[in-house]
Formats: sequence, C-alpha cells, structure tokens
Amino acid sequence: MPPNGQPGVWSGLVGQEPLVEALRPAVGAAQHWLDGRVDAAMTHAWLFTGPPGSGRSTAARSFAGALQCTDGGCGHCAACRQVSAGSHPDVTIVDTAGLTIGVDDVRELVLKAAMTPTVGRWSVILVQDADRLTDQAANAMLKSIEEPAARTLWLLCAPTSDDVMPTIRSRCRQVTLRTPPTRAVAAALESDGVAAALAAFAARASQGHIGRARALARDEQVRNRRREVLALPQRLRDPGDCVRAAHNVHETAKEESEAIAATLEQRELSAHADAWGTGTRGLRARGEPAALAELKRLHKSRRTRLVRDSVDRVLLDLLSAQRDVLRLQSDTHVELVNEEMRAELEGVSHRNRPVRTLRRIEALLGCREAMAANVAPLLALEQAFLRLARA
Ligand SMILES: [Zn+2]
Repeated sequence: MPPNGQPGVWSGLVGQEPLVEALRPAVGAAQHWLDGRVDAAMTHAWLFTGPPGSGRSTAARSFAGALQCTDGGCGHCAACRQVSAGSHPDVTIVDTAGLTIGVDDVRELVLKAAMTPTVGRWSVILVQDADRLTDQAANAMLKSIEEPAARTLWLLCAPTSDDVMPTIRSRCRQVTLRTPPTRAVAAALESDGVAAALAAFAARASQGHIGRARALARDEQVRNRRREVLALPQRLRDPGDCVRAAHNVHETAKEESEAIAATLEQRELSAHADAWGTGTRGLRARGEPAALAELKRLHKSRRTRLVRDSVDRVLLDLLSAQRDVLRLQSDTHVELVNEEMRAELEGVSHRNRPVRTLRRIEALLGCREAMAANVAPLLALEQAFLRLARA
C-alpha cells in the first residue's frame, strides 16, 4: 500500500480516506448495474465538492478509473493507466483552465454522452470546473443528466454545491472532500522524496492545499516569496508604505500570472491555427476571426483570474500569521501554521491586544470579499494595507 494509505487508482489522493470509503460501495454497485441488477449505491450523476487544492478532479478521475477497471481500480491495468493519463477513449475530461464553459461546449458533451462506450465499461464525462458553466450551458446539460444513456456517467467538480445551479445540483449525488490533514500532506511530500522537516513546513504553510504544498517544498523562490509576504505588515508604517506594498504585491501577482498565461495561450493559439488551417493556407476561413476574438477574450478573463488567485494566496498567508497571533494570545501551547516564526509571532502577540489582531484579520477578510465582489485587486490591497497599518 502506498505511504498515503490509499491503494490502486486512489493513490493520487492525499488524506481522503473517508471519501474513498464512501465511494467504494458505488464501485461495487456499478458492477451490479452491468450485470443487470438495480443497486441504489450507484447513480448516473455525481458532484465532487471540496476546498481548492484538496484534489476534487483527482478524486473524480480516480472514481472514473475504478469504474472502467474490471478489478475495481487496481491502478496498473490498461484502463486504470489510461484514465489516470487522461487518454481513455471513453472518459472525456473537460479542463477549462480558467475559462468559462459555454453552451456550444456542452452541446458537444451532450452528444458524446448519448453514445455507448467504445472500449470501456462506461462513457464518462468529467467536468473539472462545473462552477464555470454559464447558465445557458448548465441548462443545455440538464436533460442529459436527468435521463442519461444507460452506460453514461456525469462527474462534475466544483468548490461547493452553491457554485452550481440548483437544477444541476439536485440531479447529482454529492460527495465532499475534506481539507487534507497536515500530517497526510507531509507524508505525501516525504514519499515524493522531500526531507521530513521541509515536508512538515510545506504541509503546515499550505494549509491543506496540496499543489501549494508541493510548490513550497520544491521551489526555494516560492518559500522566499512567502517569507517576504509574512514580513509585510511590520513594514506598513505610513500610507506611502501601504500604497507601495500593495503595488509590489500586485506587480508580483501579474508577473507570476504572465508566466502561466503565456504558456497556455501559446498552446491554445497554435491549436486554433491548426484547427482553422490559418498557419498553413494563409487564408482565413469564415468564422475564424470570430473564433479567434472569442479565444482572446477568454485569455483576458483567465489572466484576470490568475492575478486574483495569486493575490488571494498572499492574503491567505497574511491571514495565517494573524490567526497564529490570535492563537498565541489565548494559548501559548498550540501548534502554529507558521511554527518557524514562533518567536517573532510571540513578540507581536505580546505587544498587541487581541482586539487589534481581530481588526487586522477583518481587514484581510474584507479584502478577499472585495475581490470576490470584483473590486480591482490593487485597490482592494491598498485599502486592506491601510486598514492593517491603522489597526
Ligand atoms: Zn485497473
């Protein structure tokens, strides 16, 4: 059994043993369906929810593997390996990478969903970001989810059930991933060869976000950046400091996003050129300019999203330190998220009263809320830092 305790097709999940146990009966029941017996432990449409970084799409993909495998998800047969690699012909994975899913995309999926599987046991449509379905797209999907073909399964993923339309949600069976426990994340990092102390640090600092934990464990630059962020509040002495700090955080977020966005955009533009033949024939087919304009619009929306995600990570790190201070103000023996900064945080906790810490926490939470309500990140950051300095 692998170190994280989840065998076979589930081995990519970290700290999700309760979920695996909850899905096991469904895998058995799916076999009963294939044998022509009704079994309520299985159903045609599933909604995987859980906090960012907990492994929602990995869980859905593992489930798809367990259902295609004749051995319930052995992890090493051709079906298991193909599903895991995303190359199984009967598992369609919709990976939006930051874009919305429109009605045309869904119509294509609905056509696929109507077909019988070619080589596998089930035809599976896995939508990684069902929260990005437009309302029109969600409506186009409804009928297929409600009355699916006999061997078709829909697996949808979203942060919470509130993120998908009620009409979709009510037709799905929901399963929820938990925030993976720190020790499970640390064990997973150690099994990837990360030294124990670094694994423990990255697991704590990531607060259960596995991708973030891996980045912190692997990349010294990511660790340095986090340290700089945590040192920020001490440097906010006057309004000028606050405006400059907000500007710096925003610029860094833009640089980080640029690197990710540019790679994805290049790939998508070249796929577009191949699909429309613009690279070779030199002629522009009817409809190509509109498709290109749409692609560019989506690129812009993804860049916006990436910057917001990056700024949000900064806010989460800052929040973790303030919450540590609050913990120290009520009990000095608790384990901290930022254990390596204990002496410094203890100093802050002695110099300030809890009410001040609470005001700082409110300033940071307010900034997250403002960004969720579409306030420009730079403006939201400036206001948050000014509040931090005044608190
Ligand atoms: Zn297998």
